[in-house]
Amino acid sequence: ERSDRSEEQVSGAKVIAQALKTQNVEYMFGVVGIPVTEIAVAAQELGIRYIGMRNEQAVSKELTLLYKLLVIFFKYYYFRPLIVIGGSSERSQETMGAFQEFPQVEACRLYSKFSARPSSIEAIPTVIEKAVRSSIYGRPGACYVDIPADFVTLQMNVNSIKYKECCMPPPVSMAETSAVCMAASVIRNARQPLLIIGKGAAYAHAEESIRKLVEQCKLPFLPTPMGKGVVPDNHPNCVSAARSRALQSADVIVLFGARLNWILHFGLPPRYQPDVKFIQVDICAEELGNNVRPAVTLLGDINAVTKQLLEQFDKTPWQYPPESKWWNTLREKMKDNEAASKELASKKSLPMNYYTVFYHVQEQLPRDCFVVSEGANTMDIGRTVLQNYLPRHRLDAGTFGTMGVGLGFAIAAALVAKDRNPGKRVICVEGDSAFGFSGMEVETICRYNLPIILLIVNNNGIYQGFDTDSWKEMLKCEDATTGAPPICLLPDSHYEQIMAAFGGKGYFVQTPEELQKSLRQTLEDTTKPSLINIMIEPQATRKAQVNIAKQKEGKASTP
Ligand code: ADP
Ligand code: MG
Repeated sequence: ERSDRSEEQVSGAKVIAQALKTQNVEYMFGVVGIPVTEIAVAAQELGIRYIGMRNEQAVSKELTLLYKLLVIFFKYYYFRPLIVIGGSSERSQETMGAFQEFPQVEACRLYSKFSARPSSIEAIPTVIEKAVRSSIYGRPGACYVDIPADFVTLQMNVNSIKYKECCMPPPVSMAETSAVCMAASVIRNARQPLLIIGKGAAYAHAEESIRKLVEQCKLPFLPTPMGKGVVPDNHPNCVSAARSRALQSADVIVLFGARLNWILHFGLPPRYQPDVKFIQVDICAEELGNNVRPAVTLLGDINAVTKQLLEQFDKTPWQYPPESKWWNTLREKMKDNEAASKELASKKSLPMNYYTVFYHVQEQLPRDCFVVSEGANTMDIGRTVLQNYLPRHRLDAGTFGTMGVGLGFAIAAALVAKDRNPGKRVICVEGDSAFGFSGMEVETICRYNLPIILLIVNNNGIYQGFDTDSWKEMLKCEDATTGAPPICLLPDSHYEQIMAAFGGKGYFVQTPEELQKSLRQTLEDTTKPSLINIMIEPQATRKAQVNIAKQKEGKASTP
């Protein structure tokens, strides 16, 4: 019997917050405005950590753009569980041209695993439970829940709302036994085997089992950008420094949660042997067989499947010979490549180059820190020098190469560190151009006093820029709007003053000594956010220098 006589009323906003709390949601990030502010307030009252962000400001004014927000969020978190809650127009005004009327549910459906608008306030808990469950089951992903404006303030009798119990943890699936046996046999017969550890392995918390497989079978492995740290980068079997060679010559490649997309050159020649045998381990059946015809497919959770493989190698022990020709080739290549980057790093000329900067950063980097990074060269070169020793401790622009995600990632990582590992640091390594995409999040960082260390590797441009003298020289004969290459940003910008403006500590750094000193100081001060603006050679690149004149002729490279 519904005790409708109860006086106690509850708003739609509170129902949403309670439904999220019941599903164990701990953190909520938002850009609030009418009509969703109350939801954030209600969530906060229930103890959900609410973080008000600055980016996507347009969204709070133009909620019709919400689908774009979802796309962007989806890019940030692809294959990460994410619930997006968006306010929409009042139901009674629908089709009348209401404030911010837009078919958001339909728009989001394309980009999410589940997109729905509850039919009533009573239906909110069910829809939220389904959204949370869909976001974590199978291949994780983003889900969208649409909340009409009138739901937020509508008052309901408290007893008419039934909350759904928190959903069960995702079921763990294992691969078919026959496929596991076949995979083990393909690995045993490999002449030049290679394991590729992707971010799926990190999500699956498979670090222990994969490390065991690497060490027991003495196999070389290569992490993808966000697979770094599943097995530490300084592990003797890590062949990152010989990446291209390893991919190009391997005859058997086991993929642990890494797609054969552009990052892995689609798995095709000339970057791979034409007859390379791929063994794909993935939780998503539709992923298996993309771009290549795999020798074996292992559909299941990476941790569970790796344990299945280990069982095979326990039953009939086997290890790849450590003194093989393959290992020697890889080791030689690694030595050459490491020597080449060390040589660049030791250059004393000023402005510094990327390698000099990253070697100095690496020297002082705490082993357990989170490394967040975005930019073009900054991210690519930084990734090769900055080491990860722990899984799920590197966050970068990832598959979409989306810029503007770094500060958001850093804020999220710093919150988790604050709550669970006080003292653990977050180092956010940004290109100057990448930083510009979400620079206003520095205010967010300072508002919540998160002791993030922001490093801006500043080359005055996108890919490359001008030094101050060339810039002035150019302005003598040309107006910047007609003459400045589109990739140039204002030389010698003092980004550190943005941090200072909000009460954090800013450093402007031009030499290795200044870099070392400022790093030491920021690492010692665990109470404050800081930003180190590191000036580097505007024309510095990865290898040979490409000059701007050439880029003007239309030779600009992609990130
Ligand atoms: P990377 O960028 O590291 O190569 P991708 O995003 O390309 O990573 O691929 C990650 C893959 O991991 C996806 O295909 C996804 O389906 C898979 N995956 C995610 N979680 C799991 C899991 N628990 N078990 C197995 N595979 C997973
Ligand atoms: Mg730059």
